[in-house]
Order: sequence, then structure tokens, then C-alpha cells
Amino acid sequence: MSDLNELYQEILLDHNSKPRNFRLLEDANRTADGFNPLCGDKIALYLKVDGDVITDVGFQGSGCAISRASASMLTQSIKGQSVERADQIFQAFHRMITEPEEELDYDTLEDLECLAGVASFPTRIKCAVLAWHTMRAALDQHNDTVTTE
Ligand code: ZN
Repeated sequence: MSDLNELYQEILLDHNSKPRNFRLLEDANRTADGFNPLCGDKIALYLKVDGDVITDVGFQGSGCAISRASASMLTQSIKGQSVERADQIFQAFHRMITEPEEELDYDTLEDLECLAGVASFPTRIKCAVLAWHTMRAALDQHNDTVTTE
């Protein structure tokens, strides 16, 4: 198990130091901002949705390592997916973090499983879910700032 934790840590550090899709998406047609006042994490999420498919994703912002890695992993996992699938990933991720006693949906989560350990740190949960709530808001077209409060 400790080897697995080490691997998870490496993946998280990698996403934190080299966040994927960390850019403004000029032609985004769904955007939302997220803010976690408990930690000071800020994120702007940009989605390009074509029909029912999220064809491109970008994010910008500043925050702690968990929020940044989580946002980076989010962009990777939803890019190219249908809106419906992105919502399933959101649900699986949210369950993983908030109901750690439930069995994980590995097929849906894939690399996101690396963040499962966050469930043991209540103060970091909002850091991990911020990008995901922001994604939901963007897909729902609520273009105002989301807070985790
Ligand atoms: Zn944070």
C-alpha cells in the first residue's frame, strides 16, 4: 500500500508542477469561476462544448497543490467526453471524496483515484472538489462565481 501511496503522490506532484491544459481557452463557450475561501483557491474553468461533447478544456487560477492537481486531472479526464459522461465522472469523484466508505468506481475514476486520500483530510476536501463544482456550474451555464461555502 505504501508503494501505491508513493505512486499517487508522484502523480499529484506531477500534475501540480506541470498542470495540464493550464491556459485560457479563447473559444470557450462555457465558463465559470470557482473560489474556495477556506484555502484561497481560485479557478477559472473554460469549456468548449460542441453538441454534446466537451471538445476542449482549459483552466487558470491559483491555489494549493491539491486544488491545482485536481483541476489539472479534471481537464484531462473530461476532455473529449460527452457532457453526460463528465457528469458521471463528477458524481463518482464527489462520492469518492465525500463517502470514502463506499466502493470506488475505478472504471470511471481512472487516475482520479489518486485523490481518494483527500477524503481523510476534511479541510482539504473543498480544495479537491472546487474544480468539479466549477465544471458543473459551467455546464449548467451559471456563469457566476461558485464558492464552496
Ligand atoms: Zn486548497
